[in-house]
Amino acid sequence: MSRYMNSKYASMAEYVPGEQPRDKKYIKLNTNESPFPPSPGVFRAIDASRIEDLRLYADPTCRALREKLSKLYSVVPECIYLAGGSDDILNFAFMAFGERGAVYPAISYGFYSVFARLHEISTEEIPLSSDFSIDPTEYYGKNSLVVIANPNAPTGLMLGLDDIEKIIINNPDGVVVIDEAYIDFGGESALPLIQKYDNLLVVRTYSKSRSMAGARLGYAFGSPALIADLEKLKYSTNPYNISALTQAVGLAALDENDYYMENCRRIIENREYTQNELRKLGFTVTDSKTNFVFAKTDKMSGEELYRRLREEGILVRHFGAPEICEYNRITVGTLDDMKTVVSAVKKILESVK
Ligand SMILES: *Cc1c(COP(=O)(O)O)cnc(C)c1O
Repeated sequence: MSRYMNSKYASMAEYVPGEQPRDKKYIKLNTNESPFPPSPGVFRAIDASRIEDLRLYADPTCRALREKLSKLYSVVPECIYLAGGSDDILNFAFMAFGERGAVYPAISYGFYSVFARLHEISTEEIPLSSDFSIDPTEYYGKNSLVVIANPNAPTGLMLGLDDIEKIIINNPDGVVVIDEAYIDFGGESALPLIQKYDNLLVVRTYSKSRSMAGARLGYAFGSPALIADLEKLKYSTNPYNISALTQAVGLAALDENDYYMENCRRIIENREYTQNELRKLGFTVTDSKTNFVFAKTDKMSGEELYRRLREEGILVRHFGAPEICEYNRITVGTLDDMKTVVSAVKKILESVK
């Protein structure tokens, strides 16, 4: 760090992304990317004329994308916000709505505490129950920014829509952000509730279910006033925050929604396969509604299993927090990937018998 860094940032802990390894070829199951390529139309979306257009600024209103999302999800364009990944949206949500503090589960997406710290927001981190579930009543009456990943990460557990609605009703003076990064893998979306509540923001991403983590594209649904607040921050920082190339591939993907939903169905199948196989091997496995499996064995520590899998060429994610350090988060890949994981786990467990 230089001696010029503002003191308020000097001690700030930044987010630590999952490893993008270069040392050898791994089956990469550590950052919840899709194992499937983007849809065929996405490959055709970037041609020479697109490249030529790069001399121009991209459309800051993302009109075409908003209109297409509007049709797909039956939401008027004024209720849709787009940004460079959902991380960007969450950042703005903390910046815009966090003045009276932020509340989120103690075990959840690691970026929430980073954004809170960045914007000097006081936080309340509510512990999960021992079975990793979220008790909705603990989020009542906060009337500050409430942020819940649903399904939650890295536990994979889903909170029911009734419970989400009660949290919204019981925080009329605060914004409730529902981070739906994994909603396409079998969960029930809170999206319909934006018609009823003006304090709900539903955040989505292309990174997981739409095979485009590298494009950086996220979108959010909320009341026109909430969306206008986010727009205001965007126009105060970087109006051209989504590149023309990203807008083009994002649009093309929406024309082939069935392709992505079919891939989600395959991932759900592979998830169930993996969970069953791990349970047969004595693992404790959460009831994940995401594209990852969260599992522990009592035969060895979470850390050791992570290390041994790495030696076998399989990269998964291990977290050090004491509540979950016995677990590993394994992204669901192709069926072949998952068969390789299961046999590697078998082999590793055999070796400690
Ligand atoms: C992956 C993830 C995100 C970030 O997604 P991007 O759109 O790639 O920024 C946000 N929230 C949760 C819970 C995630 O797991």
